[in-house]
Amino acid sequence: TVAYYNGKISEIDDMMIPMTDRGFTFGDGVYDATMARHQKIFALDEHLDRFWRSMAAVMITPNFTREELTNILNDLLTNVTGEAYMIYWQVTRGTGRRSHSFPLDATPNLAVMITPMSLDRGKQERPYRLRTELDIRSGLTHVKTINLLPNVLAAQRAMQESVDETVFYRMAANGDTRVTEGSKTNVHMIKAGKLITAPTDKLILPGIARQHLLQAARSLGMPVEERAFTVAELKTADEVFITSSTMMAGRVVSIDGESVGQRDEAHFIPLRTQLVDEWYAETE
Ligand code: PLP
Repeated sequence: TVAYYNGKISEIDDMMIPMTDRGFTFGDGVYDATMARHQKIFALDEHLDRFWRSMAAVMITPNFTREELTNILNDLLTNVTGEAYMIYWQVTRGTGRRSHSFPLDATPNLAVMITPMSLDRGKQERPYRLRTELDIRSGLTHVKTINLLPNVLAAQRAMQESVDETVFYRMAANGDTRVTEGSKTNVHMIKAGKLITAPTDKLILPGIARQHLLQAARSLGMPVEERAFTVAELKTADEVFITSSTMMAGRVVSIDGESVGQRDEAHFIPLRTQLVDEWYAETE
């Protein structure tokens, strides 16, 4: 893994970050992540748009331009030779003595990691098993902050229960459950030929792969509905799948140990093909 921190570049294990970085003590920062294939970054513009929205949401004023960040990412990619990489970048508010409030003129710290990843199609096509859990996350779930402890614990519980991902749900005022998203993915279902996914209100991260999935559905002439849905609806859907920019789309075969979505994959397969083909074409 190649690491970058405020202009320094090294192998990740050799990179030192000051303990006074507010990311360390407060998780005071935001990030974004995608992947690159053949040195080309997938959906970079959309990831940068979201990154700039995340910074604005937490009042971090970047000390770099969009063009400068783009050049940093592309330059780092010229140092690596493998086929595919995960690209992660984050900005923290800055460095200073530990105090909750912050100076408005703090100088942000920019960090980047470029990590090799495998593009094994067999692995990408593996079935995913999910578990559900009450979503106790903060009111900033629509912002890509580095405060990921609830997500970390949810992913850990999934691993300990030998499944692949945790799906969060909230309790609505009327007592219904409302599926929000996975610990690191967005969740979607097909019902009667329609693609149904949670709306991008403040309860979920507006996933870039989610956006590409909706475009794929529209281009395939598949009706799309962005609306709240319950855990029970998810469990009785015709097909269920999860998306993220580093895994694209994965089909779900069980939730809480109950088989789901195995009627057929008539919609998932063309959607996934469209997404992967688009990604491969963009990074050829
Ligand atoms: N939801 C959460 C909580 C995530 O952390 C992620 C990705 O990291 C996603 C959804 C998927 O977003 P994207 O498609 O932009 O990778």
